[in-house]
Amino acid sequence: MTDSATVNRETMGFQTEVKQLLQLMIHSLYSNREIFLRELVSNASDACDKLRFEGLHNAALFEDDSELAIRISFDKEARTLTIADNGIGMSREDVINNLGTIAKSGTREFFSKLSGDQQKDANLIGQFGVGFYSAFIVADKVSVLTRRGGEQADQGVRWESDGGGEFDIEMVNKPTRGTEITLHLREDQDDLLAGYKLREIVRKYSNHIVQPILMKKEEWKDGVPELSEEDETVNQATALWTQSKSDITEEQYKEFYKHVGHDYDDPLGWSHARVEGRQEYTQLLYIPKHAPFDLWDRNARHGIKLYVRRVFIMDDAEQLMPLYLRFVRGVVDSADLPLNVSREILQESKDIEAIRKGCTGKVLGLLADMAEKEPEKYATFWAEFGKVLKEGVGEDMGNKDKIAALLRFASTQADTNEEIVSLADYISRMKEGQDKIYYVTAETFNAAKNSPHLEVFRKKGIEVLLMSDRVDEWALSYLNEFEGKQLVSVAKGGLDLGKLEDEAEKQEQEKQADELKPLLEKIKASLGDKVKEVRVTHRLTDSPACLVADDNDMSANLARMLKAAGQNAPSSQPILEINPQHPVVTRLNAEEKHFDDWAAVLFEQALLAEGGQLDDPATFVKRINQLMMEIGK
Ligand code: ADP
Repeated sequence: MTDSATVNRETMGFQTEVKQLLQLMIHSLYSNREIFLRELVSNASDACDKLRFEGLHNAALFEDDSELAIRISFDKEARTLTIADNGIGMSREDVINNLGTIAKSGTREFFSKLSGDQQKDANLIGQFGVGFYSAFIVADKVSVLTRRGGEQADQGVRWESDGGGEFDIEMVNKPTRGTEITLHLREDQDDLLAGYKLREIVRKYSNHIVQPILMKKEEWKDGVPELSEEDETVNQATALWTQSKSDITEEQYKEFYKHVGHDYDDPLGWSHARVEGRQEYTQLLYIPKHAPFDLWDRNARHGIKLYVRRVFIMDDAEQLMPLYLRFVRGVVDSADLPLNVSREILQESKDIEAIRKGCTGKVLGLLADMAEKEPEKYATFWAEFGKVLKEGVGEDMGNKDKIAALLRFASTQADTNEEIVSLADYISRMKEGQDKIYYVTAETFNAAKNSPHLEVFRKKGIEVLLMSDRVDEWALSYLNEFEGKQLVSVAKGGLDLGKLEDEAEKQEQEKQADELKPLLEKIKASLGDKVKEVRVTHRLTDSPACLVADDNDMSANLARMLKAAGQNAPSSQPILEINPQHPVVTRLNAEEKHFDDWAAVLFEQALLAEGGQLDDPATFVKRINQLMMEIGK
């Protein structure tokens, strides 16, 4: 070793998160250990893609070697396994950043996911995108030798670590561009030092990688394999999406998904199509079976891999999918876009808009199909991604009706909190004379289910959809009708059951309202500004009173949600509705001495029943105690 090489050798510490991750890799992940190879091959393939893309603008990067490939070799004596590529390579700075830190958000969430039963499954790490470190599952020392394309030979970098807290780094000579990763295998990993075993793993996990994966051919002599000098390609090495559907097996589709989706599980479904017309492109889009850990992180990576005429352009092209379909994974390969397309260009491109529209339509079609033909699968989808899809009602006006048809809700007709009822189901079960879709929103499922506003609907056997997702209120404000039927909140406005009430009932109600007029006025005078109006209602059977929002006012539930989120909500007064049949109301009519207390309690309990908060709980409790003592007398 020359002096300069020794001098530039440096030992550096890993970032804390990396140390924790390495601890996990080494001590906790036992099942699926062979995925380390998939991860390293996938990195090598990405490096080749990057070179090909950057090489479009800068041919010097190729250094007269444009046959991109990945090589896997092993040395039985030294007990090492090497994965080499002639991709873009890394500079010293790249190495320190990429192989010493984790730059991604959500590290903590990721670690917490690796607890309990899942802890031992190495498969999860691909999803988080820290694949390189998985080398330490099988190796007790890893050496990386790399040089960036287009640099001088002396710009090579060697990185080495035993997976403890530190790594060594030094500048070395490397005549060829690219990266070579050598794993010094742990004692119990000797089975990886066999050609057939490695081929099996490559074909299982990396068959679809676009670049050829080369290994030395083996010739069997006297029952033992002997390496020849000749290379052979062990994977299929074609871009799956360019093949015709009939040539692709179900297994191949699934395997490719695991690569693009960084997932360990099979997808729920996919759509593969070549689109011709004004825009020509191929799309292969997948719906995952489970939500990624960062589904709710708005800054999380999402979107589709973009290719232009099979040249990889970028990961996570979020312009190709609307935000409410951010869970979709896959590739789009355009025949028309310029190769030098950048994220900025994508944002403004009319062509991209057309592609996004096409892809959105495909995904919604795929989901509609699944909902119709495979309801169980669709239920899985809904449980994982329903909340996200709901955002689409407000986000994508053009597809509102299609999205509405995909929505599922809990309902008074089912006794679970599962969301299984579609708007179409609801309509098909509507009572004779019913022309509206009724729903109630509340903060929790139980609050919705037990809402006093439902009483008359229960009595008449009319179904009401129960909504307790935060996003429901917001989504519903965009969805006024479905298939010509108005969606109506049972907690807003006057109750007009239309033909569901007969003439006799209506007359009886008007009579009662007249009789109680003086009482209503007295309650209003007592409550003052707390309520906008006091009126008689027929929506209650068991409760003495409830609150409703005026037709044009914001619902109380939404106002509470906005306040909880620290936003301004217009303070609107509720309307107090009382049940003329209820004994408490009858009793109130006769009350003299404690009328104000009774009226206040009536209002406050109605507020509590719909999930509201009292301004002055202590006084409420005092009043209740007072009234209880009165009864005891
Ligand atoms: P991810 O690939 O999901 O970003 P990894 O931990 O597997 O996470 O890799 C970290 C980074 O190291 C990669 O993003 C890439 O920049 C770099 N890297 C890893 N392997 C290679 C390679 N073979 N060639 C070039 N760069 C690589």
